[in-house]
Amino acid sequence: METLKDEATQTEMTTKRVYTFGDGKAEGKAEMKNLLGGKGANLAEMNLIGVPVPAGFTITTDVCTEYNTHGKDAVVAAMKSEVEEAVKATEIAMNAKFDSTDGSFPLLLSVRSGARVSMPGMMNTVLNLGMNDETVKVIAETSGNPEFAYDSYRRFIQMYGGVVMGVEAEEGEHCPFELVLDKMKAAKGYSSDNEMKLEDLKIVIEEFKAVVRKSAGEDFPTNPWDQLWGSVCAVFDSWNTERAILYRRMEQIPGEWGTAVNVQAMVYGNMGETSATGVCFSRDAATGEDQFNGEYLVNAQGEDVVAGVRTPLEITVIGSKRWAERGGTSEEVRAKDFPSLEEVMPSIYTELDTVQQKLEDHYSDMQDMEFTIQDGKLWMLQTRSGKRTGAAMVKMAVDMFAQGMIDEKTAILRQEPNKLDELLHPVFDLAALDAAKELSKGLPASPGAATGQIVFSADAAEQWAADGKKVILVRRETSPEDLKGMYAAEGILTERGGMTSHAAVVARGMGKCCISSASGVVVGAKSMTVGGVEYKEGDFLSLNGTTGIVYEGKVATITPTLDGDFGKVMDLAAKNTRMYVRTNADSPADAKTAAEFGAQGIGLCRTEHMFFEGDRIWAIRKMILADDLQGRKDALADLLPIQREDFHGILKAMDGFGVTVRLLDPPLHEFTPNDEASQKEMATRLGIEFDVVKAKVDALHEFNPMLGHRGCRLGNTYPEITEMQARAIIEAACDLKSEGFDPKPEIMVPLIGTMEEFVMQEGIIREVAATVFAEKGIKVDFLVGTMIEIPRACLTADKIAEHAEFFSFGTNDLTQMGFGYSRDDAGKFLPIYIEKGILKNDPFQVLDQEGIGQLVEMGCTKGKAGRPDIKLGICGEHGGEPTSVEFCHRVGMDYVSCSPFRVPIARLAAAQANLR
Ligand code: PEP
Ligand code: MG
Repeated sequence: METLKDEATQTEMTTKRVYTFGDGKAEGKAEMKNLLGGKGANLAEMNLIGVPVPAGFTITTDVCTEYNTHGKDAVVAAMKSEVEEAVKATEIAMNAKFDSTDGSFPLLLSVRSGARVSMPGMMNTVLNLGMNDETVKVIAETSGNPEFAYDSYRRFIQMYGGVVMGVEAEEGEHCPFELVLDKMKAAKGYSSDNEMKLEDLKIVIEEFKAVVRKSAGEDFPTNPWDQLWGSVCAVFDSWNTERAILYRRMEQIPGEWGTAVNVQAMVYGNMGETSATGVCFSRDAATGEDQFNGEYLVNAQGEDVVAGVRTPLEITVIGSKRWAERGGTSEEVRAKDFPSLEEVMPSIYTELDTVQQKLEDHYSDMQDMEFTIQDGKLWMLQTRSGKRTGAAMVKMAVDMFAQGMIDEKTAILRQEPNKLDELLHPVFDLAALDAAKELSKGLPASPGAATGQIVFSADAAEQWAADGKKVILVRRETSPEDLKGMYAAEGILTERGGMTSHAAVVARGMGKCCISSASGVVVGAKSMTVGGVEYKEGDFLSLNGTTGIVYEGKVATITPTLDGDFGKVMDLAAKNTRMYVRTNADSPADAKTAAEFGAQGIGLCRTEHMFFEGDRIWAIRKMILADDLQGRKDALADLLPIQREDFHGILKAMDGFGVTVRLLDPPLHEFTPNDEASQKEMATRLGIEFDVVKAKVDALHEFNPMLGHRGCRLGNTYPEITEMQARAIIEAACDLKSEGFDPKPEIMVPLIGTMEEFVMQEGIIREVAATVFAEKGIKVDFLVGTMIEIPRACLTADKIAEHAEFFSFGTNDLTQMGFGYSRDDAGKFLPIYIEKGILKNDPFQVLDQEGIGQLVEMGCTKGKAGRPDIKLGICGEHGGEPTSVEFCHRVGMDYVSCSPFRVPIARLAAAQANLR
């Protein structure tokens, strides 16, 4: 083995760089995915379990890393002898010679990428390698099929010319190879490449070579070894193309992983009517149904199946009949013109069916496979665990568990929690989506699909919805005043705001699709523009909240059903979890939805949201405008019965479970209007001079409202607010108890930074409770605890815990204050930070475990030191994000709380954290 100097250590490294497989033997195996890539590891494994695979070898992912550090020449030199030996082994296994000059059918090779995880279409592939003017003649003769030989040759020049020699279309032009083909087809009146005759192909080949000479400035290489090294290096180079880098960023695949290169003997599906090629799945990737399925083409190469030039046919009779039924094709026509592989090549089909079953059993998972039939012999080219929809993921795991194929733990761990989302929200019809025109892309703030007519104010949304129209509320950004409009809308689109912007948080809570920070969208009063095009009130738009893409016009949606399998997965999760899941809910309706998804209690009820319903805003505005304590108390007296009713509803909806009610949190200016017209309305309605209203509103202005007069700072400066809210909660609980219910209120003080801030609030709450108990002659158990959302609270959590009975980590504010990123303004720079790699994720979505996580962990540890039985939970948006949930499990939280539609995701993530 050759050695290569490692620059970092200056030591000689001796490494095995090439792993061969073929003829039932292999140097690698399935477990070696990191080194051999997914494709390479599975090719080795298939050999070991007796599946027919064309022989070849895999150059490791480590070599890709060496290639990127030491450069092409050093790496080629280092692996040269190993590759030559591997080619020799392949020649023996396939009984054919690479670079054959003796007139025998040569060994031709395919060169493909293969990273640890699949990166479909992102990297380079070269097929038919080893062909030149001499070998093409031999192939034409020995195969007795000259069209096949010359067609393979022209494909090779085209592919190699493009991938390795960089022949590509000039800006605004067509690819020069395609121009040659187009010219030939036009001259002969052909409609597809397939119609070309031998003579045509020979002309095309010569013209292709001329294209290469002109574009690349050198001749097409005739030496198979030069072709091989060119292709191998091109695959390594393709690891760092712009699109591959972009894809990795999107999928969070580390650049250090590198790709392996798989060099494998070519087998041909285009050798005539006894040859074919296809793709198949051991189960249905869309529905999860346990039904072998796939597509094939007779006399074709793999790329033809995916390229869509010819329409592939179904593999099984069942699939073929279903296909015919969908398209309205008669059985007679189907059987004659569109037969299945099962009918056309019955014995090969049986062999393929046996292989697919063997592979699924071996991997205990649904397999996505590629195969080629060369002159009546079946070869498997690839197998991997197949990608699947959320519905299929759930069904397959439940079925495989029932079939005894996987155990309970595997069934749970095989779920991708975020994919459950697809089962919880309406989704677009995929075909309709394909045809739709993309307008803009923003943050996928709340998943789901929405189609409707655009409106630009909450009032309009309400009115239009009342008229039976489906609307999309478009706003620059939303404020709590837009809540009613958001309720009325199908979806929300905002020009600004991040993942924890008001719009996003509230939309997720409602399970309503929302896209925020939509790029290129400029929102005006009655219209918006996207890239210079104006869209007016009433125009149709469609939002895909799962991808963040905005579409023009109407796109059809379908509502997924929560079938029994979903419930079964949730039952398995419940059996295997330590943490339980609560929900963030502000209304009995939300609480009910969440309870149906399995939420065990409420982790955060934001009481301020209740003030925006109906006419309630006026009571709080009256309080804000009051000049003195008595005026405020009078206004609060109006709010008391309303709040009591709210709490009654929520505690009842979550009977028997803990309900954390947070005292008033936002700065008061959020309840007052900024524009003059609304301020005038306020003056008239409350019987106060406009000037007074204006002065009061102006006085509430703060430069940093999120760091201003909010949270417990309100309750500590206006204790009467806390008194009213505590009274409403305790009275509601007492009433419920006398009605025979089992309310479990937990009163939560927001935004404390010092123990004293908490103690003062706690004193008020306990005093009110004692008074209410005496008045009503009844007592209920209740807890008094606090949000931990200011860094100082984490640092002093032990002291706070001596007084607080529970902590709920408010990781939205903790992230805001820990990072110093305004949660309302970070949308301006976070996407750029992520694009530039300064941040891996939006820390408002995915808890920053390295930094903010330390604060949370310290809060938990110190909290337990101050009060060993303290109840610990999280209610920031991270409580519904799988990696953050896992973190919460690790630091010993009792529960996570998230918006209703994320409850199943959090439950699954909690169980997975427990099992890992
Ligand atoms: C938080 O800060 O994490 C939190 C849950 O409170 P809010 O989002 O209402 O500020
Ligand atoms: Mg907060």
